[in-house]
Amino acid sequence: MNTGFVPNRAHRRLMHRRKLLVAGVIAAVFFFLTAFNLGSYLFYKQLGNHLEQSLNMKMRTAAELASYLIGNYLPDDIYDISGYYMIRPILSRIHERQDFEAVYLIDRRYNVLVESSQLLEFATSRGYLREDSTAISLALEDSVTTSQLHIVEDNIFKSVYAPVYNVFGETVILVMEANVDFLQIIAIFRRGLYIGAVISMLLLGLVSIFLILATSLFLKTETKLFESQRLASMGQMAATVAHEIRNPLGIIKSTSDLLKEEYYDRENPNELWNYINDEIKRLNRLVNDFLALSREPKLVQTETDLGQLLQDAVSTFRTDNNLTVNLIAPPPNLRIYCDADKIHQVVLNLLLNAAQAMEDRPGEIVLESDIVKRKGRTIVRVRIRDDGPGISGDPQLIFEPFFTTKTRGTGLGLAVSKSIIEKHGGEISAGNRPEGGTEFVFWLPVKN
Ligand code: ADP
Repeated sequence: MNTGFVPNRAHRRLMHRRKLLVAGVIAAVFFFLTAFNLGSYLFYKQLGNHLEQSLNMKMRTAAELASYLIGNYLPDDIYDISGYYMIRPILSRIHERQDFEAVYLIDRRYNVLVESSQLLEFATSRGYLREDSTAISLALEDSVTTSQLHIVEDNIFKSVYAPVYNVFGETVILVMEANVDFLQIIAIFRRGLYIGAVISMLLLGLVSIFLILATSLFLKTETKLFESQRLASMGQMAATVAHEIRNPLGIIKSTSDLLKEEYYDRENPNELWNYINDEIKRLNRLVNDFLALSREPKLVQTETDLGQLLQDAVSTFRTDNNLTVNLIAPPPNLRIYCDADKIHQVVLNLLLNAAQAMEDRPGEIVLESDIVKRKGRTIVRVRIRDDGPGISGDPQLIFEPFFTTKTRGTGLGLAVSKSIIEKHGGEISAGNRPEGGTEFVFWLPVKN
């Protein structure tokens, strides 16, 4: 029977509320960060759009004025290279004064007719203009149009296309290309925004993990607290019941002894008499364990010869059990400061458990002790090994009060042993041995 702690409904509801609170905090931080990132993104978008709009307007105005000016000087034959001698200086001035990267005229097939800086040969085609074919088509239909932003080797460019007509109504396109560096700042801002979003989400992830871990630790601690409170009240109740049982039990025992003396037939023994005694012993043990667990163990510590203590425990054990105990002698004169009766009780309990685990199996119980260094302290280590089936499941669970796998077990022996060892400032643990069987180890300080 494993009577591990089962939280009641109110406690479950409380834990549920705490979990909801943490989930709420995480969700709120998530929404806040998302809203902040979204807001920054929208702000970036608005700012970018606004700057681009006003740039478009400026470029269009400049292009309209320039096309109007150039229109007066456009040759009758647009492919007459000499006809552009008046236009080139105008383009150069626009280039310099308006801070454009390039200013030139093209025909409908993107061939350059004249260029501000004379870098391009007459009638060479500017292939990349095809990317802006829509804007150029619109310009050919008489509207001044700006292109999309072009990013070339980390530089951002924008072009404006404006129609220019000669006297015969033939159309050429004025192209003005601007390097819009300031938009790079916005691009940096955007990059910053992405990095910020990633970092904030990573931080949120870390904070969430931390919160979840902290909450589960908190809930575990709280559950333990609830458990110990419950055990404390159960212990109080058990102590009261145990006291009430103890007295009638004493009366039953003495009465049964009297009756046995009077009616026991030695010639024809009836084993029912033994049953009474065995059950009284069992009930007594149960009552004592209940009382031991419900009270803080009070220690009466004296300097004790550990070898002698172990020897005594083995002798007590042998009076009821005929299993072999291999007591490996501890280092001579190993004296510790402890409550000898209580440590005797622990060793005896571990020996009895080992014997019960082995039942009819062959093998032996080994009881060994030595001096070791643990966490920088010199301490005594006592090990009890058996050849039983070992512990199935989590070995730490067996120290829980009321944990038992035996039909007639109380599940209190190890819980009491643990509280005694811990009261001495020691530790106790159990584990399965690789070769089979169980090993219990407890450590005690040599001196308190
Ligand atoms: P009880 O003996 O009344 O069951 P204990 O607290 O002494 O109570 O033991 C709790 C449980 O631990 C046992 O029911 C058993 O399942 C397990 N146990 C204890 N000692 C051993 C052992 N030597 N080998 C295997 N299991 C053990």
